Amino acid sequence: MSAPAVEDVTGREGTDQPVVVIGAGPAGLAAAEHLLDAGVQVVVVDGAPAVGGLSRSIELWGHRFDLGPHSFLSDSHPESVARWLDLAGAVGGVERTEAVRSAVWRGRVVGFPPSPAQVLRTVGALGAARLAGGRVAATLDRRGPAATAHEALVARHGRAVVEELFVPYTRKYLGAHPRELSAAFADKLQGTRRGWSGPVDLLTPREGTGAVWEELARRLRARGARILLDTRVVGLSTSGTRVTGVQVRDAGAEFGIGARAVVSSVPAPVLLRWLPGTRAPAGPALRSRDTHLVHLLVEGPVGQDSHYVTAYDESLRVGRLTNTRVWRPGTFRDEPRTALCAEFWSSGDDDLAARSDHELAQLAVSELPAFGVDPRVRVLDHHVLRLPRSVPVLTLGVEAARADVDEQLDRFVNLARVGRHGRHDWDGQEDSLLTGRSIGAHVLTADA
Ligand SMILES: Cc1cc2nc3c(=O)[nH]c(=O)nc-3n(C[C@H](O)[C@H](O)[C@H](O)COP(=O)(O)OP(=O)(O)OC[C@H]3O[C@@H](n4cnc5c(N)ncnc54)[C@H](O)[C@@H]3O)c2cc1C
Repeated sequence: MSAPAVEDVTGREGTDQPVVVIGAGPAGLAAAEHLLDAGVQVVVVDGAPAVGGLSRSIELWGHRFDLGPHSFLSDSHPESVARWLDLAGAVGGVERTEAVRSAVWRGRVVGFPPSPAQVLRTVGALGAARLAGGRVAATLDRRGPAATAHEALVARHGRAVVEELFVPYTRKYLGAHPRELSAAFADKLQGTRRGWSGPVDLLTPREGTGAVWEELARRLRARGARILLDTRVVGLSTSGTRVTGVQVRDAGAEFGIGARAVVSSVPAPVLLRWLPGTRAPAGPALRSRDTHLVHLLVEGPVGQDSHYVTAYDESLRVGRLTNTRVWRPGTFRDEPRTALCAEFWSSGDDDLAARSDHELAQLAVSELPAFGVDPRVRVLDHHVLRLPRSVPVLTLGVEAARADVDEQLDRFVNLARVGRHGRHDWDGQEDSLLTGRSIGAHVLTADA
């Protein structure tokens, strides 16, 4: 891209050029804070109308909702937890509860993990013996390191459990069989911080997850950072191995912002397209899945009081259903209604993506009884939100693709990548906070 006309959006004549941070999600905001701590001037640009990225909250029917159930993991990196609790504490505080989870498994709603009696009822004595036997065999099997997520999961849970639960789950969620996924995905899923079947401690901000990031943005602005919303980055300008600015588009115009360095939280393949002399990553693409969220305003008996229900049945298109009233107890406190949030996942070119909002809402409503929702519940309204490229897929060979991206992008001496998409990892907010705060000295000390 040719160098755009560069504008000093800091409005302070004669000051150094800022570091431009692309994305006002958790990673971008954490990076901006880190830069301010180092005494560097910062401009954050985001194409969305609000801060928080995928962790923002939206206003519907007089209440605030997160994009799907959003909690912070209390047993994640202590530095991230402390930082997040400080922010959440300033905006209404935090609810701390142990998650009550359910699952739709072979057409039944069971607790998660299911009790022995539920297992017996669902798969019978022979099936239960197969599941238990598979687990025992797995503990006795002493193979070397797993090459795929499937091998890693079988080694931990036994083949029968993997076929029953993990295969339908990853096919629905990630559009891939565990054999097509990296062993790193199994580690992420199983990691002590994201237990698969152990108790999950939920930390949820009373004012919504987005309030935490709004508070961080407020603090950054108070310290002099500029945060430009509704302002989309459409390209970068470079000179040799330096990035010299970002090209942005807002409602009115396209203009450039000169930058002494750039920190990006956009997907790596997008960044590659903006830079000269780069190509799409070799090997399997750094694939991401889309999420489609359907919020349903309902009245009457809901009959489903888990925090969320995950559907392991591939016959159901909804992947997870959250009762927002249970998720955040303050919501709908004195009202005879609640909102249910149905999550669908797709690859952008399948039939889910092609459905209209109304059709998607109808599909969600038709599947509610399978999730244990009382068929008498009345649906009063719906709202559909599409989140393209919201779930990075850790395909087999993702490590090689990442290494190729690193090699191409590390050439640019004043460019850093942060966050879930910048690093293409199946990360939560805590990871984005951490990567945002760990940008290298090359960005902090880049000469203007
Ligand atoms: C349904 C769902 C449920 C989740 N549940 C949890 C949970 O319970 N706990 C948890 O910790 N995490 C959860 N996550 C993950 C969490 O939302 C993300 O890990 C986190 O928001 C990532 O932060 P980030 O800053 O790296 O990326 P993002 O939040 O995606 O922020 C990236 C920002 O970059 C902006 N951007 C992109 N392209 C451009 C461009 N060209 N120009 C300008 N701006 C641009 C976007 O608008 C966005 O604001 C969930 C995610 C989803 C989709």
